[in-house]
Amino acid sequence: MTSEELAAHVEEMLVSNWRLGFSSQRDERVQQFAWLAQVLTGLYAHYNHAYFGDRLRPFRIVVTDEFGDARFSTRGRYEKATRTIRMYVLDRMWTEGLRLTLIHEMVHVLIGNGWHGKRFRAEIHRIAEMGHEDAAYEDWTLSPGWKGTVQSADGKHRWKARSKRAVDWEGDDPDLFDEEGHFLLSEEDDPDLRRVGDLMSRGGPSAPSR
Ligand SMILES: [Zn+2]
Repeated sequence: MTSEELAAHVEEMLVSNWRLGFSSQRDERVQQFAWLAQVLTGLYAHYNHAYFGDRLRPFRIVVTDEFGDARFSTRGRYEKATRTIRMYVLDRMWTEGLRLTLIHEMVHVLIGNGWHGKRFRAEIHRIAEMGHEDAAYEDWTLSPGWKGTVQSADGKHRWKARSKRAVDWEGDDPDLFDEEGHFLLSEEDDPDLRRVGDLMSRGGPSAPSR
């Protein structure tokens, strides 16, 4: 990927609202994860400049589908000792979910720990106030009373709430997952699906963004 191509993909990732689809072939998938890690590293640099005054140290970003934890409640992991951010992806992944996870983990980098206390919430709020739409959503989920009104205690419903928000703008409200967490939509029914392989084979934005 040239630096121009990377810049174009980062720009696309900043504003897009679609699902990324990964290959079912293991070797292709590994390449696609490496590609996405590169784009997210570019996004990290962009966010570092835009929201953190370039104060964050570089972190290695690893994209993986090997879940260490409950499938829907863990979307990313910040590892201080190795300066690594792990991004856990599904077969299909909303781009807004990637943005939210990245900005969340970047706040951990800033505060230097994995807690979600006052300081963490204040930073998310600050970034939301600066106009980061996904941080604004996170800010809302962290606000007092949110748990009681919108979600049950388990992470799955929270994920569903996120997914529903993602499709709001389509004027559609499909239930995206069955009880076991499998996607219910077929590719034909899913105009928002972008194959990562297709994205890798071209340089810049081509699909219309919202
Ligand atoms: Zn966290």
